[in-house]
Amino acid sequence: MVLPEIYKRLSESEVAARIWAAKEKLGKEMVILGHHYMSDAVIQFADYRGDSLELSRRAAQASEARYIVFCGVHFMAETASILSRSDQIVVIPDVRAGCIMADMAETDEVERAWADLDALWPGDVTPITYVNSVASLKAFCGAHGGIACTSSNAAKICRWALERTGHVLFVPDQNLGANTALAMGIPADEIMIWNPSRPYGGNPNIEEARFIVWRGFCNVHVQFAIEHVIAVRARYPDIQIVVHPECTPDVVALADANGSTSYIVRYVREAPAGAKIAVGTEANLVYRLAKECPDKTVIPLADSYCVSMERINPWNLLRSVESILAGEPVEQVSVPSEIREPAKIALERMLGAS
Ligand code: SF4
Repeated sequence: MVLPEIYKRLSESEVAARIWAAKEKLGKEMVILGHHYMSDAVIQFADYRGDSLELSRRAAQASEARYIVFCGVHFMAETASILSRSDQIVVIPDVRAGCIMADMAETDEVERAWADLDALWPGDVTPITYVNSVASLKAFCGAHGGIACTSSNAAKICRWALERTGHVLFVPDQNLGANTALAMGIPADEIMIWNPSRPYGGNPNIEEARFIVWRGFCNVHVQFAIEHVIAVRARYPDIQIVVHPECTPDVVALADANGSTSYIVRYVREAPAGAKIAVGTEANLVYRLAKECPDKTVIPLADSYCVSMERINPWNLLRSVESILAGEPVEQVSVPSEIREPAKIALERMLGAS
């Protein structure tokens, strides 16, 4: 829904005052969840901030709140809706805040890939979907013995899958999938990328595959390149480089550490005073960490922002909270029950296994 002019004309300080007032009036009836990649202007209003896994747990635990306002992208709000009670209402300040990576794996394409792989290895492939995916894909995994994962628990979930079947189909992020498989010691020649427009995903030697990763990626994290690593090391020879596993495997291999958004936050906060750290993840989070840790040098490996996350701003957040206050919440996110139930199975398997 287009933001009404009446909101656009407000100054940032007027908007902030009205959001705080609405929060005060709604009290525990409303909880605001904020992803780490939100701007400072938005994250200040979050009751809880975190990465996908932490916010999934918060959504499942938000028992007192009737309204969950999700400051993040659409698949996150869908996840909150799947895990929340049926009487809770999930709202996102802008429903157009999608995710480029999630859009790279259409459920019917994944179903076709699954059918090919199941014909090759009957009953011996576990589908794993990164939570950065549409609800119908989570539902597909839930209905086919599969599971969801986040970047925090991907290794644990992949081990869970490989204890059950000889093969994994990992969607939609090829980089998180490949980095996790490589870290688990799976040989590179047993990890294959599935291109949905080619027979057998473009892998004539598919019989040798053990870990099949979908050809998707995060536009924010693939911006980091070997040249950035070389440049920061030349400028600061004693710098530590920590990156997100959505970065390409060549960048991850050159970094000193890699891990989920929460891992990166801990890595920076727990580093000793005087440490120099370059961070390969979304720039809003990196600059916030730099402000929070003035005793350290914290710089982005390169400036890379998520344009989808940037759709959420204080103006559309105000519209959300005031619509709740008026009893007519706008931009609600709900998932039909035929998708919600199997998707919940994939998510609950993940929460139980991690
Ligand atoms: S950072 Fe990447 S994975 Fe996350 S919402 Fe943006 S495009 Fe999607």
